[in-house]
Amino acid sequence: MSQQPTFAPMPDAAGFFGPYGGQLVPPHLKQAMDDINAAYAEITKRQDFQDELAQLFADYVGRPSPIFHARRLSEQLGGAQIHLKREDLNHTGAHKINHCLGEALLAKFMGKKKVIAETGAGQHGVALATACALVGIPCEIHMGQVDIEKEHPNVTKMRILGTRLVPVTRGAATLKEAVDSAFEEYLNNPADYLYAIGSVVGPHPFPMMVRDFQSIVGREARQQFQDRHGRLPQYVAACVGGGSNAIGIFTAFLDDAEVRLVGVEPAGEGTDRPGRHAATLTMGKPGEIHGMKCYVLEDQPGVPAAVHSIASGLDYPGIGPQHSYLKDTGRVHYETANDQETLDAFMRLSRVEGIIPALESAHAVAWAMRTAPTLARDQHILVNLSGRGDKDADYVAKVLGI
Ligand SMILES: *Cc1c(COP(=O)(O)O)cnc(C)c1O
Repeated sequence: MSQQPTFAPMPDAAGFFGPYGGQLVPPHLKQAMDDINAAYAEITKRQDFQDELAQLFADYVGRPSPIFHARRLSEQLGGAQIHLKREDLNHTGAHKINHCLGEALLAKFMGKKKVIAETGAGQHGVALATACALVGIPCEIHMGQVDIEKEHPNVTKMRILGTRLVPVTRGAATLKEAVDSAFEEYLNNPADYLYAIGSVVGPHPFPMMVRDFQSIVGREARQQFQDRHGRLPQYVAACVGGGSNAIGIFTAFLDDAEVRLVGVEPAGEGTDRPGRHAATLTMGKPGEIHGMKCYVLEDQPGVPAAVHSIASGLDYPGIGPQHSYLKDTGRVHYETANDQETLDAFMRLSRVEGIIPALESAHAVAWAMRTAPTLARDQHILVNLSGRGDKDADYVAKVLGI
């Protein structure tokens, strides 16, 4: 390539990041997506929208989240310094509140009567229910009956927050059926409803909107790091499920060629075991899923593979279209961490720094722990600690017999 790829402005008008993204949806849905896109472009330019979102980020979410130098962990590992962008300290305990607030506020400004979404483990559901309670807009969450029984604390929280919870009993009664059910309800009245997608996935404009709402993380982190150290970190790392927390921190660094960006995918029980990992970019190939072109893990064309990760927030057989493009261009390197390394990182960070990370985030910590000893002590790795591990504590204790 004679020219460096450019990353901004992305995506193009049709929602493509290179060959990925787009709107692979039927015509009536394309119209609904185009309406959201037009409203998004207009509303997010308005000063009253920007002011309200900035105020909520500050006073409600608790932004800016700090960067913590994990001194003891770095010392023990004997190499590069590890720093954590503390999205776990946000209200509701993860980065998801950033885009859920953006989506709920957008729905309010668009005059929508209801926000609809599906949830698997319930993390997206709780963050969205929270944002909708705050903004004052009805929220309807579809959830598989099997997941409802497994994820009691999150189900209870959603009910307390005033969400209408719709149990889905058809088929396997898990995430896939919940998506179908939520989508059917949305299609009953796309003019009055907003479907709130939980990551940088789905048809245009969602990968762009969710990225934009999350990009506050990287803007803060870049400035904070520069202020403290007078330079940028050599590495910025984040776990990758759909890719929202990763793109959120990467975006501000895309033009800093000297900063290496690393997305960490879940290798589960091993990338050599089909169905037992969710390393979409590492093991998948370009295809289509959920209204977009992106890398996918498939059993056969059009049939998504079974996926697994110890972190339920990472087990998705697709990946955001922008990540697919960033992989092909080489701007971001995608690595993996398996379940065991993730558990080790979860325990190590808890015991050495007194921070219990989400199992999702522990993937990125695991990569940093593996990499730090190979680097000099004056090198810096900045990890996006996407969430806290309260939700995982009982499970980990059971697995490890603590
Ligand atoms: C949902 C979730 C993730 C995975 O989603 P991305 O869109 O890939 O960021 C990561 N970390 C936490 C804490 C989550 O709740």
